[in-house]
Amino acid sequence: MGISVEMFAVTKSKITQEQIVDLSYQLSCAFGYDNFFTLRKENESSPEYRALEVVEAIGVLFDEDITEITPKDDETFIRVSLNGNFYSIGYERGDFGLYKNVAEWLEVKIPDAAIYYGGDSVYPILFDKETREFLWKHFCEVNTAPYYEIFQKSKNRPICDFCNHKMYQYSFSSNANEAKYLCNGCGSRLQTEDGGKTYSRVAEDDIDN
Ligand SMILES: [Zn+2]
Repeated sequence: MGISVEMFAVTKSKITQEQIVDLSYQLSCAFGYDNFFTLRKENESSPEYRALEVVEAIGVLFDEDITEITPKDDETFIRVSLNGNFYSIGYERGDFGLYKNVAEWLEVKIPDAAIYYGGDSVYPILFDKETREFLWKHFCEVNTAPYYEIFQKSKNRPICDFCNHKMYQYSFSSNANEAKYLCNGCGSRLQTEDGGKTYSRVAEDDIDN
């Protein structure tokens, strides 16, 4: 659940399917295939997806207007099938460092490519160096904390004894005395059944996210 990240590369030159297959392979090897949505064809009529896919058009946001852009002359539009949550100001959730690096990888591998970045319900914007640096600074300053803070109601949250930071409640019960907390710094989980008077570790087989 959530807003999935979307990224596109608009190239200045024609990219062949053979190049797409090879670039997809290199991209997955570089950043890990788990970071991309891929699907192997099962029969003649079933779909097939690689880390990079050629698309016919992209709806992008320019000056608060949505404009559908289509390839001109020798351009090729490529979807980067990233598998993760969108990250932006007001939705600090996904692995922004990965998205920034993938965009820079694409710029090196496909010279003159323009990169667009958005989410599945957020129209893409031009993801140029200036935009990337602006969001990167925000990511370095606050990481994913604002997203997790949205769900925090209790003023009485435990402090992780390893990281020395407040933990995030991730499990909510109809019984107000019951809660489970997670530390995003080390993965430690604590639970309380008495409204925070005492805490115990969450058992491995009771991790329900
Ligand atoms: Zn911790």
